[in-house]
Amino acid sequence: MAEPDEPMMVDGVTCEWAGRWNHITKFLERPGPFTHPDFEASTQSLKFLLETCKILVIGAGGLGCELLKDLALSGFRNIHVVDMDTIDVSNLNRQFLFRPKDVGQPKAKVASDYINSRVPGCCVVPHFKKIQDLDETFYRQFHIVVCGLDSIVARRWMNGMLLSLLVYEDGIINPGSIIPLIDGGTEGFKGNARVILPGMTACIDCTLELYPPQINFPMCTIATMPRLPEHCIEYVRMLLWPKETPFGDGVALDGDDPEHIQWVYQRSLERAAEFNITGVTYRLTQGVVKRIIPAVASTNAVIAAACATEVFKIASSAYVPLNNYMVFNDVDGLYTYTFEAEQKENCSACSQIPLDLHFSPSSKLQEVLDYLTESASLQMKSPAITATVKGKNKTLYLQSVASIEQRTRPNLSKTLKELELTDGQEVAVADVTTPQTMLFRLCFTS
Ligand SMILES: [Zn+2]
Repeated sequence: MAEPDEPMMVDGVTCEWAGRWNHITKFLERPGPFTHPDFEASTQSLKFLLETCKILVIGAGGLGCELLKDLALSGFRNIHVVDMDTIDVSNLNRQFLFRPKDVGQPKAKVASDYINSRVPGCCVVPHFKKIQDLDETFYRQFHIVVCGLDSIVARRWMNGMLLSLLVYEDGIINPGSIIPLIDGGTEGFKGNARVILPGMTACIDCTLELYPPQINFPMCTIATMPRLPEHCIEYVRMLLWPKETPFGDGVALDGDDPEHIQWVYQRSLERAAEFNITGVTYRLTQGVVKRIIPAVASTNAVIAAACATEVFKIASSAYVPLNNYMVFNDVDGLYTYTFEAEQKENCSACSQIPLDLHFSPSSKLQEVLDYLTESASLQMKSPAITATVKGKNKTLYLQSVASIEQRTRPNLSKTLKELELTDGQEVAVADVTTPQTMLFRLCFTS
């Protein structure tokens, strides 16, 4: 480590120059009113950040670019980034590590190269992959994981992966197996940052009820008393399109087809005029049809900064981390609020308690499937259900493979009794929202 009074030196080996980390050492080497109660000033913290601490960033998009920059400039040098996307021209306004020449290239790779060339000594390792293509051994090597994702399914999967790495000894978590998850999310002018200690504090699935499944308006509003331009567009999309089939029978509405959008736009205008509603535009029509929520660069910057700060606090142990959920909103003025999300006693992901499925023996398998996908606390996407029937492991329903779907589809209309399932037996469910198979206990109601 270079001392502040040493001459400037950038030699490629230590990549240090005098005073390079002065701003960081102020936080790590002197106590203050906000330092952690157990804080002890030490030069070891900086050494740990620079040399040992290994951070995983999930996502190299709007939040990811900001996160990588913030972490690299905060002294983290061992960073991996996972992203499955390539750069689109529409990303360039805010994903500032990318240039027009990079369009079509993998985000993870370009972002890593940029940081590595710009921040001496920093080593970002890219993974142009889906998070699901990496295994436990990969994830276990990190001290902290930061998510900058736009998908709830991916977030839940990551959450499930970190939960699966926990080691329990006599029902107590081995603290060494906990990898903190810092999760950032943005949607237009709104955002949130949260700190999750898997198994110890509220996880993503504990607060699943906070995520609305989709931006859906009540059907009665859309059909009978629209108040917003969006209601008019939804009316055309959901009711008129299937009824009038303007581009032929069975032709689905394509948000990327200008003729389709033009048709919806014209009809929405008519609907809006009928109810004296203003504000229907071509752009809004496309936004509603494609469910586009505009990305706002400054929201990403704020949320990523909050997440990077939490990484710094946890990695250095110098400050008390966020407890544990911060919401940010600058739609109208500026508002932030922090609360402690509570761990849900019967969380399907982190509670360790097998959940009960209450059904009558005469219920059909379809009802079980509907429950798994529609229940606010489960919100599964395409659950595969298996159970041991008469000593044999049997796939009751599986959607992801067409041939198996076809073979198991008749089971959906059979009752649980007809499927020879018994009271109290275990039912295993696999889904894209988690890397682990979930076990449920079937409880017959009379
Ligand atoms: Zn949970």
